[in-house]
Amino acid sequence: MNDASQTAAGYPALYSIKRHGVSITDCAAEPVHTPGCIQDRGVLLALRTVDLTILQVSENSERWLGTPVTALLGHTIVKVVGTAAAQSIRHALDHESVLNNPTYLFTLPQRDTFPALDVLLHVNEDVALLELEPAGDARAPDAYNVVRRIARSLQESLSLHEFCQKAAASTRELTGLDRVMIYRFHEDAHGEVFAESRREDLASWQGMHYPAGDIPPQARDIFSKLWLRPIPDIRLPVVEMVPLANPDTGRPLDMTYCALRGVSILHQEYLTNMKVAATMTMPILRDGVLWGLIACHHYTPYPMPYQLRAACEVLAQIVSLQIKSAADREHAAYVERIDRVHHGAVLRAVEEGGLARLIDTSPDLLDGIDAGGVALLNDGVWLRAGETPTVAQLHHLHTWLMRPAPDGAQRTHPALIRPLHVTDQLSDEYPAAADYADVASGIIAATLAVSGSRMLIWFRPETRRTVKWGGNPDDKPLVAGPHGPRLTPRMSFELFEQSVFRRSLPWLPLEVEAVTRLRAMLLDVVVGHSEMLAAVNQELLRSNDAVDAFAYVASHDLKEPLRGIANYAQLVTAEAASLEPENRERLERIRRLAMRMDGLLNSLLHLAAVGRVTLEKSSVELGPLLDEALEMISVRTDDPSVQIVLPRPLPEVQCDALQVRQVYSNLISNALKYNERTPRRIEVGYVDPEDPAERIDFPAGTAGQRVLYVSDNGIGIESRHYEQIFRLFKRLHGRDQFGGGTGAGLAVVQRVIDRHAGRIWVRSTPGVGTTFFFTLGPVV
Ligand code: ADP
Repeated sequence: MNDASQTAAGYPALYSIKRHGVSITDCAAEPVHTPGCIQDRGVLLALRTVDLTILQVSENSERWLGTPVTALLGHTIVKVVGTAAAQSIRHALDHESVLNNPTYLFTLPQRDTFPALDVLLHVNEDVALLELEPAGDARAPDAYNVVRRIARSLQESLSLHEFCQKAAASTRELTGLDRVMIYRFHEDAHGEVFAESRREDLASWQGMHYPAGDIPPQARDIFSKLWLRPIPDIRLPVVEMVPLANPDTGRPLDMTYCALRGVSILHQEYLTNMKVAATMTMPILRDGVLWGLIACHHYTPYPMPYQLRAACEVLAQIVSLQIKSAADREHAAYVERIDRVHHGAVLRAVEEGGLARLIDTSPDLLDGIDAGGVALLNDGVWLRAGETPTVAQLHHLHTWLMRPAPDGAQRTHPALIRPLHVTDQLSDEYPAAADYADVASGIIAATLAVSGSRMLIWFRPETRRTVKWGGNPDDKPLVAGPHGPRLTPRMSFELFEQSVFRRSLPWLPLEVEAVTRLRAMLLDVVVGHSEMLAAVNQELLRSNDAVDAFAYVASHDLKEPLRGIANYAQLVTAEAASLEPENRERLERIRRLAMRMDGLLNSLLHLAAVGRVTLEKSSVELGPLLDEALEMISVRTDDPSVQIVLPRPLPEVQCDALQVRQVYSNLISNALKYNERTPRRIEVGYVDPEDPAERIDFPAGTAGQRVLYVSDNGIGIESRHYEQIFRLFKRLHGRDQFGGGTGAGLAVVQRVIDRHAGRIWVRSTPGVGTTFFFTLGPVV
């Protein structure tokens, strides 16, 4: 193996900071795990695990041990530490959990001019790595007791911020470092100084945001494996491993877990620019995922011996264990605040019987979800609060949001495809929004009506307007790096700008969920649910895959009334002690909602069943089948108020008997229901294709088919409703008129006919009567 072989990132397979680090331009590609170099504040030896032969050693061995590299390579470790210590290394390798876990073994005593050295051992990729570094001060304060006290005080924090503030102060107390920051990663991976403890004379960086690129992905990766990264003196040179490749394997040495691991030149420059001389960084992991960092800076070199690091590691672990409950508390408080505001809004809507005053009263919707503004479209009027686009801009935005589906699926309502539209980069999808990126780079838009005539939108401004960006060259003049004007981290500010350009802080899942809940409540309470569900019908009826369509409806829309009910229940239960009339009314409303949902569910299940059961076609006598259908809907043939007329005996047809019986019972029960005459006359008959006398305007595709019909002398249907009545949950009359019904009967009929490859159509004269014609496919 030689330096000429390249990695995919374009750096030599055997990388060395010392040789190649200066030419780095892309810090995301830098091989930080295998830097080929260490910090010149100790010695690193790589040993073969079986016989403790020294395979690689840092080139500074003579300075720290008095023995040049050449005199060490190929010898056993006995030559460095003596027989007894070598035995304890052997013992640790065989009996202790040193895999990827640097463990303190012993301290080599001071010799002549050479200082006492702490010896740490760990194994990585079957290589034993021995790190020797100057021993700490034995008189160091009792870190254990400090950490114990800190742990207790952290537990008592009320908010996430207080918790982080304490964590910062505690780390500073423990280490004595000049500045300790709790750096928190946001959803989009950019970071924020969330809490800070600092020397009094230093300027505060709290609230500063830093772009994601400041901490490249490999560095984040390392922090999910490692509890502490010490850099006691940034100005120390890096020294190279000799040789760079492990002679047994030809591979570079993986130094992920080494405290001595060399510092990338880019990172050195970054810190030098900030005049920082020493850093110590610890991860904060929440459920094993990197939540943030405890980042410490010191403005002069600062020794970080093993004991101090061990205490800090414990502290980082404690913070990590407790951050979850602190963050959960914070999360719960935010959800509670949003829900309180949203519930208030829903109650207002209920009392008002509409949305008109939803955003002009207190508590305002803006007190809930963190947003710059909110706008509501109601009956063609935009109501606005906070910072929002202008009314004209809102109109355009609304038109864009309600555009048809991209696949041209005209049948599906945009409001169903996109009940919610959530973005933190609106102008990317909708360029017109660039004009008002400062107020609305991010939106959550919720449709409150299928037609899109009601809509609620939250706006979030462009991030760079809302947060303080660290590293902004306007705030802090650029210091050229020691290696000239090539890329230095501060110079990449332009990249940062791009990353936040016309972009808002991302919406949190909990915020999107809260809008989903609010939408459900508003739809259910104010708008009524049937409108939304009615529009689902085409999807459902025409979809080839009934199960899919059913799942769609069930998951999207049936959950909503259910949630509405649950929310009401919650509201009422909270005030159960004193049941005032209005609460009683709410309870009554719950009951009605529940009953309605039950009816809707039954109809849907029924419809889904029609699609799912396989057709059992056979030769069926329609005469006896009609008798069964009449019996099903309890029509007595001797009832004088009902006349069932058959001009001639019904034929025998090829069909699924059970399903066609359902067709007759649904059509006849409608013929009886939507009929105020006495007697109610229902004719059930058929027209054969060869019947010359009959004149029926056959729709396309029915030529040559036998047409069956059910005709009544009822109230009739206006021709403009001919299509809609077949839609699921579409009713032409109020819920309480004509004996109720869910509006699924004709949808089921349509579906059965579709499955028989037949057609159904209606002719009617209002006030005179209605005839439903249908075919059941080609006559055989
Ligand atoms: P439901 O009867 O449960 O309301 P349907 O899907 O069976 O639902 O019917 C849809 C609508 O079509 C009914 O609400 C009614 O307004 C109208 N309709 C159906 N059949 C007739 C009929 N024979 N005469 C008049 N109107 C009818």
